[in-house]
Amino acid sequence: NVGESRKRDKSDRATREQVLDPRTRMILYQLLNRDIISEINGVISTGKEANVYHAVVLPDDALPAHRAVKVYKTAILAFKDRSRYVNGDYRFNKGGYNKGNGRSIVQVWAEKEFRNLKRIHSIGIPCPEPLYLRQNVLVMGFVGDKKGHAAPRLRDVTFSALGPEEEEQKYKDLYVQLLTYMRIMYHSCRLVHGDLSEYNVLYHEDKLIMIDVSQSVEHDHPRSLEFLRVDIKNVSDFFRSHNVEVLSERNIFKFITGEAGGKESPEIALSIEKMFQVRAALTDDQQRAENEDDEVFRSQYIPQNLNEVYDIERDGELLNSGKRGDLIYQGLLADKLTPASQNESDASASGSGDEDSEHENDDDAD
Ligand code: ADP
Ligand code: MG
Repeated sequence: NVGESRKRDKSDRATREQVLDPRTRMILYQLLNRDIISEINGVISTGKEANVYHAVVLPDDALPAHRAVKVYKTAILAFKDRSRYVNGDYRFNKGGYNKGNGRSIVQVWAEKEFRNLKRIHSIGIPCPEPLYLRQNVLVMGFVGDKKGHAAPRLRDVTFSALGPEEEEQKYKDLYVQLLTYMRIMYHSCRLVHGDLSEYNVLYHEDKLIMIDVSQSVEHDHPRSLEFLRVDIKNVSDFFRSHNVEVLSERNIFKFITGEAGGKESPEIALSIEKMFQVRAALTDDQQRAENEDDEVFRSQYIPQNLNEVYDIERDGELLNSGKRGDLIYQGLLADKLTPASQNESDASASGSGDEDSEHENDDDAD
């Protein structure tokens, strides 16, 4: 059907051109000229906000290597509903978040992803190595095999060849791995992913690889804890669907944000294993109660800063009746309410993350 295929041709071209506008093409040319990449090949993924291409670099003095090139779409519509992530992130409020100019918004997202990747990579959480950023084009390490096949998303992996029991164990191990990364990301990178799910985690050489962190926020972003709660729900839903006896979402939340449990992977994994044991020791009724409590947790109000934490009206009752552990932000309390850090915490809480000039130079040394 010639007419049909011509139409398809046209729409293919339209899709391509939406991303590869002249300026973007010029940037890709420069990458090629400067040997940051040597060839740009097929598309690995076409998304609403970005396309990801496979590229190869052939250095004179080293072995050829694969690269992934993420090209953020410059069409403004693609980014329309993202302001909730940027507003409140002091790193990107300087000079304003330009709503009138599509290009600069897109650049903000590319820059956010680049900086977040740097932080995550430098702390040792598996993620693509960020290599080069220019406007809306980000070059990063390629996650995949030597032949250039990209690693599958967690969603697309199957372990059915393993047999049911080993398959279940495999998913449980990956669940623990992912919770460990979430905690390290929160404490050591001070980031909440914000769009975490089986779609934004790759599986490669027995490891989970975090990707797609352009919307990740500082943990003191006014809505970071809400985003974290959704991340936890997505992760729970996925692993539950693969027969993992998942932990309660409230407990995971406390664990990720709390102080107890160590900062390095082995200690964290141990703490998670303990949480599994505690859960397993519960009676069926108690487990059901925890599950029901998660329904409450999902809709519960989450205070985001210490001004809110100090709402005596709302929280005094809990504290007075000895139910401190029921406070949703228990982790925050342990984290921030030590006498030595109290003043500092008060100061950073009052700005609720908006243009906080104190923080201006407080970014990673990129
Ligand atoms: P989007 O915003 O479109 O969701 P992602 O960053 O999630 O962008 O990337 C889209 C897809 O591209 C991923 O699901 C993954 O399959 C692939 N991809 C992204 N980065 C890499 C990489 N560094 N190596 C291999 N594949 C990648
Ligand atoms: Mg994605």
